[in-house]
Amino acid sequence: MYELSDWQQRARDQGFIKHALIQGRRVSAQSGATFAAINPATGEVLAQVAACGEAEVNQAVRSARQAYEAGVWSRRTPVERKQVLLRLAELILANRSELALLDSLNMGKPVMDAWNIDVPGAAGVFRWYAESLDKLYDEVAPTAQNVLATITREALGVVAAVVPWNFPLDMAAWKLAPALAAGNSVVLKPAEQSPFSALRLAELAIEAGLPEGVLNVVPGFGESAGKALGLHMDVDCLAFTGSTEVGKYFMGYSAQSNLKQVWLECGGKSANLVFADCQNLDLAAEKAAFGIFFNQGEVCSANSRLLVQRSIHDEFVERLLAKARDWMPGDPLDPSSRAGAIVDAGQTARVMEFIRGTEAEGASLACGGRQLSFNGSDNFISPTVFTGVSPSSRLAREEVFGPVLAVMPFDSEDEAVHVANDSVYGLAASLWSDDLNRAHRVARRLKAGTVSVNTVDALDVTTPFGGGKQSGFGRDLSLHSFDKYTHLKTTWFQLRS
Ligand code: NAD
Repeated sequence: MYELSDWQQRARDQGFIKHALIQGRRVSAQSGATFAAINPATGEVLAQVAACGEAEVNQAVRSARQAYEAGVWSRRTPVERKQVLLRLAELILANRSELALLDSLNMGKPVMDAWNIDVPGAAGVFRWYAESLDKLYDEVAPTAQNVLATITREALGVVAAVVPWNFPLDMAAWKLAPALAAGNSVVLKPAEQSPFSALRLAELAIEAGLPEGVLNVVPGFGESAGKALGLHMDVDCLAFTGSTEVGKYFMGYSAQSNLKQVWLECGGKSANLVFADCQNLDLAAEKAAFGIFFNQGEVCSANSRLLVQRSIHDEFVERLLAKARDWMPGDPLDPSSRAGAIVDAGQTARVMEFIRGTEAEGASLACGGRQLSFNGSDNFISPTVFTGVSPSSRLAREEVFGPVLAVMPFDSEDEAVHVANDSVYGLAASLWSDDLNRAHRVARRLKAGTVSVNTVDALDVTTPFGGGKQSGFGRDLSLHSFDKYTHLKTTWFQLRS
């Protein structure tokens, strides 16, 4: 299934879930409201989807709470939960083409990226948390002899997850897998741009044996469904991935309601530092291009600022531009396309506005900068590189969330670190150097949740992912993400001596 015509045929035959999934049932919005799910690569309306509001959120939270209190999932043994989540991982892979297609049609990414990366990634995350469950032990505190004090991890209850559109299936999986593994019930709100894979995933979870009501999905807008979850008095934890602006709203919703725990994975403006002592400049250039152009640049940890030591700057930019040409967008269903469509017309306009503004500010457009049309859609942007970007310009400071790279020269290590850290964000950073001492020194000084050395945007289920400053707090992936979905209970047994 790698031919364009195969994917086109599948796309014609593909059905879409148009309802919320609550208590294991497909549910319409009580108000009858719907929103159009649009394929950004063609402009075609794929389906009208239930636009959930407060009524459906209340219903979904009730369903999650009842399932939690009934213990149908929360009190199952770790091994039983493990078996269900392992079956879900298998079902994700068994439905690999459909899930890949749903994300590609819904938000414009190349279908083969979804097939090669996103779908196996989601299955791997469910498998990894499932496998962890019967290997985790709790603690006994070093108290006096006449005391036994246990420290146990307990599920929180009802977790709400609000996620973005850039990796619809994976962002859902990163929240759901550990939250469910820990025994919680979950209400998931996918982004309004990309509801389909989350809805299909929830049906697969029920097929895998997850009891009805444990996982509920409420498609809809942020200002209605998302806000209702944020303000809900019976949600214990709100796990969010999205923009910094909306992340701040969730802190406010929590303060205005029940002080639910809020965990934020927000935006970024990650710096990639290339030092003159880097021996493999060709690889560094290839990865610098990948770091900004993969997924149309719609990546929170995209390496959107490239800092190059002045002595190799011009040579490096030449290599980079050669690599950038490989990332021309095309039909997302064409297996030869390395980039696809920008998620919608609004985001396309925003990226183009950044490009025009940066040109007006006097930076040099080294390549790209053009809006392109395919199959009747204008939501395509050529890979864009600006050189001579001032560290104080908008492009150097604000998240674009598109295929636009800001290149800046630097002279000294101190200057590079200073510019890299001079950001409101602190999600990720990369550095390239073959000097072991410099690599360690600079890695320590960079303020970021992940520092990749001699690669970009390193990421694995085994390692925590998240940031500091206005990129948020708390970590997805790894065993550390259980910190978000469990709380510590101390039980003190006073013994008679
Ligand atoms: P967004 O913040 O606009 O939306 C994210 C989610 O929040 C969506 O489900 C949306 O419906 C909901 N939402 C929007 N307004 C809301 C409101 N007023 N109240 C409640 N919920 C609301 O972000 P986006 O455009 O979907 O995604 C892009 C952003 O996500 C970028 O800033 C990117 O950096 C960030 N992101 C971060 C990570 C990470 O792990 N740090 C990963 C992926 C994306």
